[in-house]
Amino acid sequence: MHREKIKSLNYLDYFQENQADVSLKYLLQSKSPTEGSKVLFVAGVHGDETAPVAALIKLHKIFNAKPELLLKGTTSFLLANPIAFKKGMRYVQYDLNRCFQESVEDVSTIEGKRVSSIREYFAKTEFDIVLDLHSMLVGEFRLVIFEKNQVDSINYLDKTSDIGYYATYQNNFTHNSLLSEFSNKKGVQTFGIECGNNKSIKTVSVAFDQMVRTLEYLEMIQVDSIPLMGRVEKTDFIQIFDIRETIKPHPGFNFVDPDVKTGSYIKKGQIYATYKNGYNLAHENLNLLLPKTSLEKTIKKLVTLLRFIDSKGKYSINENKKLPSVAFFVCNCLIF
Ligand SMILES: [Zn+2]
Repeated sequence: MHREKIKSLNYLDYFQENQADVSLKYLLQSKSPTEGSKVLFVAGVHGDETAPVAALIKLHKIFNAKPELLLKGTTSFLLANPIAFKKGMRYVQYDLNRCFQESVEDVSTIEGKRVSSIREYFAKTEFDIVLDLHSMLVGEFRLVIFEKNQVDSINYLDKTSDIGYYATYQNNFTHNSLLSEFSNKKGVQTFGIECGNNKSIKTVSVAFDQMVRTLEYLEMIQVDSIPLMGRVEKTDFIQIFDIRETIKPHPGFNFVDPDVKTGSYIKKGQIYATYKNGYNLAHENLNLLLPKTSLEKTIKKLVTLLRFIDSKGKYSINENKKLPSVAFFVCNCLIF
């Protein structure tokens, strides 16, 4: 059997064997007898993104072995789409990250049913922080995305994350996603995190360290009581982007300038890409933000999503950490 497949089955077994004593399946919990914050760490929203799931298990195992490390509160670990995960697929019938909606008919799909039970179970739980951890199958790129009006997000990221690329969204941008469910509907501080390439141990490290540092941030564990994996170097910048626009890459999509890279500037009115029956035109001044590998020949496969990102730099951060003016984002998985 394929090595990745064996790993996934072991992970599923782990979730089943350590299932929290609750009605929601594939949920693990570490609980301190002392009252405190509640956090939810989610992985496997897309079933083929195994690296963040490995990170969940790694952290749960540590609490299992030494429950006293959790000084207060409750840490929940959710494998969001176990059926897709078992099959090694992004989803079985419908992208689970589009199922957080009100319409009844979608409950008929495997993912729709799973989302109903997730919603039902968490209907009354008030979380302090939710992390939705993703990885990408092609390319290597890291990004944290969060709702623009979430109070204190920059402070949290400054203290807990070394990723450096942050994107904010507003309104219904992440329609029917887990992010919108927890952030917009439930008002929980929620972060969607692209942790990197799924095959890289660095990706497990990013997910694991983010969880540990979140627990430190909320004072649920003592600082340095759980060693970080620390496989990824710190970035020396913070760049915050506002997502401006979604672009669907049509057949034959190509950038006009084949050398475009993160930071490339596109002027309002400029045609920056062409496709078989038309072109893409910038509706405002923008910069480009994209993972290195998207410039390879396989660009059409990689580009499943194109988004404009803009930052007007409304956040105040350390002066040595610079802000871009505006940006445009292209990525193969992206949280949505
Ligand atoms: Zn994903």
